[in-house]
Amino acid sequence: MQVEITQTTPIYRHPADHGVFVQWVVHDPPLTEIKFKLERSGAPEGPWEPVVSNIEAYHFFDVSRRPPPPPGPGEDVVDLNYLSLTRTVYYRLTGVSKDGAADTDVSDVGGTLPRFQVLMKQKMQRDLAITFKFNGVDVAVLKRRHWGQRCSVCFDRLTRKVTNSKCTVCFGTGFHGGYFAPVRIMGRFLAPNSETQLVPQGKSDTTQIRFICGQQPTVDPDDILVEIAQNRRFIVVAQNETQLRRETVHQSIIASELARDSVEYRIPANWDHHPVMY
Ligand SMILES: [Zn+2]
Repeated sequence: MQVEITQTTPIYRHPADHGVFVQWVVHDPPLTEIKFKLERSGAPEGPWEPVVSNIEAYHFFDVSRRPPPPPGPGEDVVDLNYLSLTRTVYYRLTGVSKDGAADTDVSDVGGTLPRFQVLMKQKMQRDLAITFKFNGVDVAVLKRRHWGQRCSVCFDRLTRKVTNSKCTVCFGTGFHGGYFAPVRIMGRFLAPNSETQLVPQGKSDTTQIRFICGQQPTVDPDDILVEIAQNRRFIVVAQNETQLRRETVHQSIIASELARDSVEYRIPANWDHHPVMY
């Protein structure tokens, strides 16, 4: 038996009368009846306060009816608890069957954003997709390997170092293959922000750019961006996520253009011309 919270939807009727509608499902249910207990907390590890217990329904409306705060002169007080971008409410559901099977699931209310935030996020992502459609370019993201098989050609097990920065087996990473299979995305190159201009050692003579893309996949420092049409390659220096609540809307990346003779240009990344073999 596995319980799963599928919906946590805040519902606002009045500043002093709002709540969260919680709904759940049971996977691989037992043949006997199941009783549920619902608790809430401000953190995923608790401590937990009881909401309801011993119920058989697969949903519950957790109504919070609090006395309205004393209004100031001409003041319209709006409770922003569930609208807060920083405050999260967690629910913990426990299901126990008559034959003794039990399971627990935890979900935050942010998991299902309030309606207007969902619309805002959808709009921002739609705007971004439209922007890329007209101004975007095809880019391959090469995620650098940080684990796996060491390079058999150039990795020195004694010094734990790559002995050949031009190695075409690991491309200087020390791991066989060097990078995971390329992920093709759309994005947009921009001039770098002056405030985020970075000059890493040894790269001061290279061009730094800013790159905007969607939230998938997450791009990390030392990953490689390949601008496919011209095969210009950049190493990621920094990444910022623009977030709405904890949902990433888009990523802003600072990257440094790689020298044309660098080994990263040997990584197969354009599958229009090369079969990708890893
Ligand atoms: Zn190597």
